Amino acid sequence: MRAADFLSLTPAGLYCAAGDFFIDPLRSVPRALITHGHSDHARPGHGQVLATRETLAIMALRYGASFAQSTQTIAYGEKLRLGSIDISFHPAGHVLGSAQIRLGSSQQVVVVSGDYKREADPTCLPFEPIACDTFITEATFGLPVFSHSRSMDEIGKLLASRNLFPERAHLVGAYALGKAQRLIALLRKAGYERPIYLHGAMEKLTDFYISEGIDLGLTCKVTATDRPHLGGEIVICPPGALQDLWSRKFPDPVACFASGWMKVRARARQRAVELPLVISDHADWAGLCATAQDTGCSQLLVTHGEADALVHWAKTQGIDAEPLHLLGYGDEEVETAEAGDEA
Ligand SMILES: [Zn+2]
Ligand SMILES: [Zn+2]
Repeated sequence: MRAADFLSLTPAGLYCAAGDFFIDPLRSVPRALITHGHSDHARPGHGQVLATRETLAIMALRYGASFAQSTQTIAYGEKLRLGSIDISFHPAGHVLGSAQIRLGSSQQVVVVSGDYKREADPTCLPFEPIACDTFITEATFGLPVFSHSRSMDEIGKLLASRNLFPERAHLVGAYALGKAQRLIALLRKAGYERPIYLHGAMEKLTDFYISEGIDLGLTCKVTATDRPHLGGEIVICPPGALQDLWSRKFPDPVACFASGWMKVRARARQRAVELPLVISDHADWAGLCATAQDTGCSQLLVTHGEADALVHWAKTQGIDAEPLHLLGYGDEEVETAEAGDEA
């Protein structure tokens, strides 16, 4: 990669020699800067971790308080110098605490986006475009077919289905960090006032969001004895639970799944999803292109996802572009069936 002279690709991920740190490293390293709490970006076992307060709290919730030898909090917009590099974190609009990382030397500015989206999300601060020379972006949905619907329209479909089938339980598969809480907040915004039921795997992170002052209304954990009596209710669960025995105890459940991948009908069919909801925490094709333009970058490097089309598009815009093929960032919208993590 011909990015800034101060960044290189190593087996552990992006490394900045001039500041001696890694960004979202894939293996244990002495010093890590972490963009957000999803498990493919935020791994336990590093020496020092620098991240937003929310991301550090999310890591502690998931991995225990000793997830790193030491931690340091950085606020959005706060400036810090590591070696000869100026560092600052800026909202990425992806999940609570998520950040893009700006790296500046006397010569050049590089922004590492982490995961991001451009659509408004009531549970986190909106993405802020940061001017830079090199923009390092994800491309989870980097194909023109990915044009996400407005999330409130998708919430409208869920509520319409509930009105149509008032005796059935609506089970909505959603990732435990970010998506679940965003869904709840969007339902409240749409005027839905009933208690929202949560699979146990959603509880800890949802409580954390509530403790951060995000208004989610009344949420209750589903107990085994509740399940047969939740006809007409909305229940949020890990996507994997939709196919579990767990889901069969509800009255005639409607399997719903909130993900950017629900744009692909085959994926919905494969998972036996009756009501696909295209709600994504990643930028869609138009969002990726607009963001590259908004940063004014002259170079675009694509970490993971559907890099080729975006690289091609960038070149047609006169932006030098290259895929980095970083492996290990499984995107959290493609989930493993495990209990409720976004994987
Ligand atoms: Zn993520
Ligand atoms: Zn990711």
